Amino acid sequence: DALTGVYNRRHFDDRLAAEIAFALRHKTDLSLTLIDVDFFKKVNDEYGHPAGDDVLKHLAATVQGQLRTEDIFARVGGEEFAIMLRGIPLDGTARLAERLRKTVEASPATHQHRVLPITISQGCALLATQEDRSPKGLFAAADRCLYEAKRTGRNRVVA
Ligand code: GH3
Ligand code: MG
Ligand code: MG
Repeated sequence: DALTGVYNRRHFDDRLAAEIAFALRHKTDLSLTLIDVDFFKKVNDEYGHPAGDDVLKHLAATVQGQLRTEDIFARVGGEEFAIMLRGIPLDGTARLAERLRKTVEASPATHQHRVLPITISQGCALLATQEDRSPKGLFAAADRCLYEAKRTGRNRVVA
């Protein structure tokens, strides 16, 4: 991804298709976490688009710093990111998401000497428990959880 330097949507989609095929064939765990910045529009509106861009770069670096080499982390939309975890059950995925949530909350970005605090909401889903075990089905499941995290107050993890 040109802005943040993490993987882009195209790469993530390719990898997700491959990892789903592997997980189904070998009966291993695969989980997906979707991350969405809370009230990100406010950052752009109040401090400008370049400030918003700095927040996204900082967030990507903060999350990447918490992950293992084998975790696949990408920017999948404007202020939306995704993590694919291989061999990790849902409780482990939710624990990581909670750690990310706390870390992001505690490490604000800066833009032109201004401190810009942000929080993230996350939705986590496990492949094995989905009815539709396609990339689309797994994304939809994680997205439903993300929506629930937003609806119930933001700065939350729903798995
Ligand atoms: P919510 O908590 O419901 O997610 O609120 P939100 O304001 O984050 O959600 P919304 O979808 O309304 O706004 C997302 C904003 O992200 C809209 C757009 O201005 C901004 N955005 C998307 N891509 C970029 C980008 O590359 N750079 C910057 N600076 N802003 C971006
Ligand atoms: Mg969004
Ligand atoms: Mg948002």
